[in-house]
Amino acid sequence: MNCYDCHQEGRATPATASCHTCGAGLCPDHIRVTAQDVHRHEGMGLSTLKQSARRLTCFTCHDAQHQL
Ligand SMILES: [Zn+2]
Ligand SMILES: [Zn+2]
Repeated sequence: MNCYDCHQEGRATPATASCHTCGAGLCPDHIRVTAQDVHRHEGMGLSTLKQSARRLTCFTCHDAQHQL
């Protein structure tokens, strides 16, 4: 699989990961890494674990999810 964003720019770069949201192949130049809180149900409440999960997304999905 090649990087989708590079493909859009007319280049063919091997993808090293894929977007968590849209599944597009991504090269290191086009990956957005975000820390995602992990929640766990405990008793009646919800607790946030200390360690965050890693989520890899493309720029498009990252921007779409963090627009204000
Ligand atoms: Zn790329
Ligand atoms: Zn995406």
